[in-house]
Amino acid sequence: MTENFTLLFLAAFTLTLAARLWLKLRQIRHVAAHRNAVPAEFAERISLASHQKAAAYTIDRSRTAILGTLSEAMLLLAFTLGGGLAALHGLWSAQFGGLAYGLAMIFSVVFISGLIDLPLSLYSQFVVEARHGFNRMTPALFVSDLVKQTLLGLAIGAPVLAVVLWLMDAMGEHWWLWVWLFWSAFNLLMLFIYPTWIAPLFNKFTPLPEGEAKTRIEALLDRCGFRSNGLFVMDGSKRSAHGNAYFTGFGDNKRIVFFDTLLARLTPGEIEAVLAHELGHFRKKHIVQRIALMFAGSLAFLWLLGQLLDAPWFYAGLGVPAQGTALALILFFLVVPVFLFPLAPLSSRWSRRHEFEADAYAAAHADAGELVRALVKLYEDNASTLTPDPLHSLFHDSHPPAAQRIAQLKLKEQLA
Ligand SMILES: [Zn+2]
Repeated sequence: MTENFTLLFLAAFTLTLAARLWLKLRQIRHVAAHRNAVPAEFAERISLASHQKAAAYTIDRSRTAILGTLSEAMLLLAFTLGGGLAALHGLWSAQFGGLAYGLAMIFSVVFISGLIDLPLSLYSQFVVEARHGFNRMTPALFVSDLVKQTLLGLAIGAPVLAVVLWLMDAMGEHWWLWVWLFWSAFNLLMLFIYPTWIAPLFNKFTPLPEGEAKTRIEALLDRCGFRSNGLFVMDGSKRSAHGNAYFTGFGDNKRIVFFDTLLARLTPGEIEAVLAHELGHFRKKHIVQRIALMFAGSLAFLWLLGQLLDAPWFYAGLGVPAQGTALALILFFLVVPVFLFPLAPLSSRWSRRHEFEADAYAAAHADAGELVRALVKLYEDNASTLTPDPLHSLFHDSHPPAAQRIAQLKLKEQLA
């Protein structure tokens, strides 16, 4: 059983790694092959120079993603069959027992992964993003973000993990149900406190100023029967030139947040149309569906982990000569993504259907033409490629290709 599991893991690992690299190479080839002509449906709106800028940016990012995939894969092998977890276990089990041992194991893995990831995130922010004019972050801000994230991760992560490890030990064979209840409650709490307690640690939020945009947004919210706990502008420009708009919180704690970069670029009519799209996600219950899927998924995974916890082959098959709750958690979260990759197209397809539904909602409650203009601007400003490789897109794109979205919206515009 142990050897079979090792072979199964290695087969899934190799296939997933090969598929990920192959898809990125396809993406690079496809974008490069189409870099010299703007697709016909965009020819009037997007210049060749912008199209080529988007191609260069996409190719650069795909190359960085290849490095990331390779380093992630090597780290996974080093932790498991390479003996990394076995060595950490030897180190910490000699010092601590019980909870302290569990926390030391988990935090070591998180810390080492973060450390290995650091050069690439520096490269991506200060070389790739900077080269294409998107980086607004200073090295000092990068460091202060990193320090804040680490402290926050420790302050929240340590007690949460301690409770999870304790439940796994103390609750008998149905521990996974207890962990699930705790985990779900914790996630709901985080959704609730994130906008008011955590996001302000990283960004400034100011009320949306009076003006045409605000008047139109309030009229739209009225029309759609939507209540929120305020409209805010976030200083996204302190980190990046990329723009966005989003909802956060839930219940009466809902906020609508616009990046300052988005407001600076779009007209009031376009902002209204973008918000109508976001409202569409809300009204069509996409957000609730996502949360429900997350809860169902974590229940299934915790049940599965419950089955593996006492299986010697699960540990030995992954190169770990010991058993226990912390080791099981670590192995599970390291190894599960390798087996889940083939499901990525399902999740992308689901999310794309939601995008079409949100676009249809926006077309019904605001102006489809304004949304098209906003989308074209956002594609251009964010240097998103208009010519993605179809197979890469199937696995990785949560949004439908620009041409498809715009064609659907134009149809709606003609019908209106
Ligand atoms: Zn959307």
